[in-house]
Amino acid sequence: MNAVAPRRVEVVNFGCRLNLVEGEAMRRVAGVAGDLTVVNTCAVTGEAVRQARQAIRRLKREAPQRDIVVTGCAAHIRPELFAAMPEVAKVLGNAEKLDPTAFATGRRVEVGDIFARPYAWPAGGEIEGRTRAFLAVQNGCDHRCTFCIIPYGRGASRSMPPKEILAAVETCVEKGAKEIVLTGVDLTAYGRDFGGGPKLGGLVKAILRAAPTLPRLRLSSIDCIETDAEFVEAMQNEPRLMPHLHLSLQSGDDMILKRMKRRHSRADAIRFCAALRRVRPDIVFGADLIAGFPTETDKMFENTLALVEECALTHLHVFAFSARPGTPAANMPQLAPHVIATRARRLRQAGEVSLARHLTRQVGRTLTLLTEQGDTARAGDFTKVRLRDVSPGRLVTARIVGQDGKMLVGCRETV
Ligand code: SF4
Repeated sequence: MNAVAPRRVEVVNFGCRLNLVEGEAMRRVAGVAGDLTVVNTCAVTGEAVRQARQAIRRLKREAPQRDIVVTGCAAHIRPELFAAMPEVAKVLGNAEKLDPTAFATGRRVEVGDIFARPYAWPAGGEIEGRTRAFLAVQNGCDHRCTFCIIPYGRGASRSMPPKEILAAVETCVEKGAKEIVLTGVDLTAYGRDFGGGPKLGGLVKAILRAAPTLPRLRLSSIDCIETDAEFVEAMQNEPRLMPHLHLSLQSGDDMILKRMKRRHSRADAIRFCAALRRVRPDIVFGADLIAGFPTETDKMFENTLALVEECALTHLHVFAFSARPGTPAANMPQLAPHVIATRARRLRQAGEVSLARHLTRQVGRTLTLLTEQGDTARAGDFTKVRLRDVSPGRLVTARIVGQDGKMLVGCRETV
């Protein structure tokens, strides 16, 4: 959750980078309805929904005179949950939130059919106070993983036309962006809805060709089984494509992957990581993993734990399974909460061990870093570095002199 200083339109974002980009776009359109606070919710876990409701109550207590508009996936999927809150002035759906007229209607709930309504692409780009620019190039999802509620909030998969993306990239570069992050719901589905147009690999190449002065291009989460051959080529031959991929793996057990309705097997994941490492030896993988999916046995969980080593995953996002009402997994036999919690803890510990090993290997190296707020910076492989006294948004060279188990410690190289 990111809160900004109160202003005409205050936006509080939960969840993914796509929500972040849309949050910025809403700041530009919502002002038609006066001084208000927009709470842009996430529906991925029950905890995310609980935190949003808690934030709404706090924000109203802190500024009773400001209207609160709630939007985002949780509001789109369960509008009644937020409409029932006295603190809430309006509930908007995920398509309506980018339409200035929807903010000004007298109706309290404006949530349309996300599968029917065309999507207005948020003018992406430089995120205020942030070092990198996020571009939403894909939205929605055509898959139906059994634990996931997102397609019901985001609709069918659709891609931003390449011409519009290249224009947005040009704007970002003109504004001085050092790094652009391509984001979406199912990014690797990019271009499927164009029929013959470019897929993700082709798009990456087109962006780097069109923006020769852009130092860094990064991808948000991808599905390893959906990547195209051009994507692997780009990772091999384009040094400005950052050597960091966050994989939506979810489990390391084939039976659980089947019950999740995922499209890859454990062997596919291992093969993908090995193949990318062959063409780009400095690549680093992060992954989303779910602990405690219904019917997961100890043996099945051990397979997920072992995957951390077998793919040498360093940046883990571990989710303790949370049944989402309306999904098939919510109707499967659930594990006991303490079992889920224990497995999530063990997975996080495995991730910490793997990260510490990666950090140790970096000590003594000289790296190019992109500086951020708060005396930190990021290496190309997204590893965080403590680097003192350098203003944000700069590309600098630094020698890695140590690590604290969570991040590296860098010392600025003076040219
Ligand atoms: S690919 Fe699966 S997990 Fe990802 S958004 Fe689609 S349904 Fe959800």
